[in-house]
Amino acid sequence: MENTKKTLLFDSATIAAKVKKLGSEIASKHPSGSVLFISILKGSFVFLADLIRAVNLPCEIDFARISSYGSGTQSGGKLDIKMDVGVPLEGRNVILVDDIVDSGLTLAAYREVLASRSPRSLEIAVLLDKPSRRETSVPIDYCGFQIEDRFVVGYGLDWDERFRYLDGIYIIEE
Ligand code: IMP
Ligand code: MG
Repeated sequence: MENTKKTLLFDSATIAAKVKKLGSEIASKHPSGSVLFISILKGSFVFLADLIRAVNLPCEIDFARISSYGSGTQSGGKLDIKMDVGVPLEGRNVILVDDIVDSGLTLAAYREVLASRSPRSLEIAVLLDKPSRRETSVPIDYCGFQIEDRFVVGYGLDWDERFRYLDGIYIIEE
């Protein structure tokens, strides 16, 4: 366990530069700010913390805890909302923030739930995307890095709750 082999994929400076760029994209799309960021716990909290400072405009944040247990053979997974967002979305410009989109089942399902609450706009920001793993289509408006189908940890992402504290993103070598 302690000697799990990890290979650096993105160092902290590379991540910081990318998050700055995403922040500028969001700021130019929402020049007055007033965005409500909804961060999917736990993995995206580090990304959210850096992203809101990169956007550098007045905003609000909230959190949700969700997971999906979709089967690859079925279209659409079942969504388990462990903690829902705590504020009304009606008329709000909402950006759903996640660490990584893999099958897309979790984000696609929760996006539907949020869309039914009449936000003014609803976008998705992810730091990482594994497009080859997608099982359902989900619109990604702001994406940091597209990566190969490898398991990654660090910068908030975990492997069985470990490695979230790493300031870079690493590939776990099986
Ligand atoms: P999906 O898109 O519904 O398949 O689920 C995406 C979620 O699975 C992410 O929010 C992560 O919590 C987790 N996940 C997927 N790939 C990885 C990875 O490479 N490292 C760590 N967590 C991952
Ligand atoms: Mg997650």
